[in-house]
Amino acid sequence: MRGSTHAVIGANTVWIPLLAGLTVQPWLVAVGAFAALLPDLDASESKIKSLTVGGYVGKTKVGIRPFVPIAMVFSTIFGHRGALHSLLAVVIVAGASTFLIPYVGAAGLVVIILGYASHLAADAMTKSGIEFLWPLKMRFGLLPHFIRVKTGGILDTLLSLIGSGGVVVFLYQYIGTLKI
Ligand SMILES: [Zn+2]
Repeated sequence: MRGSTHAVIGANTVWIPLLAGLTVQPWLVAVGAFAALLPDLDASESKIKSLTVGGYVGKTKVGIRPFVPIAMVFSTIFGHRGALHSLLAVVIVAGASTFLIPYVGAAGLVVIILGYASHLAADAMTKSGIEFLWPLKMRFGLLPHFIRVKTGGILDTLLSLIGSGGVVVFLYQYIGTLKI
């Protein structure tokens, strides 16, 4: 599945705390998208690895890719769709994210955990599946093999479009709640 599809699916996790009655700030959309890119730190090539932070010094464009060293370590040690795509990783992310509650609130915590987990669910719908019970070397999938999603295929694109629509609707309803 494409990184952009993971990001929009993760962004849509804002709906869960919203529907549960929590206050959801609009920037949590970006938090959900980012959380959904994290598992692919174990891939040799990924969206998160190519994220560039930078600007201009004079007229020269300078940028660094802060996630490249982390991605190199994770992809070398664990391999793609292994440890970072497992239940254990979700538990660790959930535990570590509790320290972020003062900054992101309860809704943010839910979005981080679900954003991360959404990546695993989405990858489990692709042909190769994931090692959900890592360190067990067994691959798990969510759909019968013949309807599994192909990266860059029509289902991938469809999910991306539906997800983008969900984000637009979320931001639209947020603007609707503002008393302007
Ligand atoms: Zn993945």
